[in-house]
Amino acid sequence: LSFEELSIDERVLGFLKKYPKPTPIQSASWPFLLAGRDLIGVAETGSGKTMAFAVPAVAYLLSTIGKKKMKAKDANNISALIVSPTRELALQIHENLDALGKAVNVKSVCVYGGVSKDDQKRALNGANIVVATPGRLIDLVNDDAIDLEKITYLVLDEADRMLEKGFEEDIKRIMQSTDAANRKTVMFTATWPPSVRDLASQFLNNPVKVMI
Ligand code: AMP
Repeated sequence: LSFEELSIDERVLGFLKKYPKPTPIQSASWPFLLAGRDLIGVAETGSGKTMAFAVPAVAYLLSTIGKKKMKAKDANNISALIVSPTRELALQIHENLDALGKAVNVKSVCVYGGVSKDDQKRALNGANIVVATPGRLIDLVNDDAIDLEKITYLVLDEADRMLEKGFEEDIKRIMQSTDAANRKTVMFTATWPPSVRDLASQFLNNPVKVMI
């Protein structure tokens, strides 16, 4: 696959051209994700997995922006959510998304625990994508700062690590608060144990599985 073969926004294409070519996980994932399929990616950090799910997330957002009417009471317009096991990983994902988002006027915000909620709530204003750790996400949902029912593109990144860290119940709560009928779901994981398989079969709809 070459970048030019992707039918995506020219600005996204322009952003990607800083890389020589797609990585194997990107080549394997993009055609399916851009076609709207749910997907399980089994890949390690360093494989280019962040852009593997971030590019289709942004492309999907761009295809839906403008079609939606925001209600006056809506504080934000978040429709893409990326859930990550740690603050460090969340920040890393956000950094990538922020750079890509700036090229197309899509705003990404990163939320995680251990710091003030107020600053994060302010940052959510006008945001389109949230990168979050599970606990703080639920906290902000409980405060009505994020409406999970509006999420149409959801990524569980490093799903195996999230389960190892004891976030299973949090993830289930998050997934159950979204609108499954109106949600594309992507899961990335480095390993494929039964616990991750169970999670995938519970929340992904006829997913394609790509391993590299
Ligand atoms: P990740 O696996 O998402 O942690 O990505 C690892 C690194 O690869 C990051 O620094 C990305 O900026 C970089 N990267 C992403 N896509 C590509 C690509 N197509 N070619 C070269 N590097 C890339």
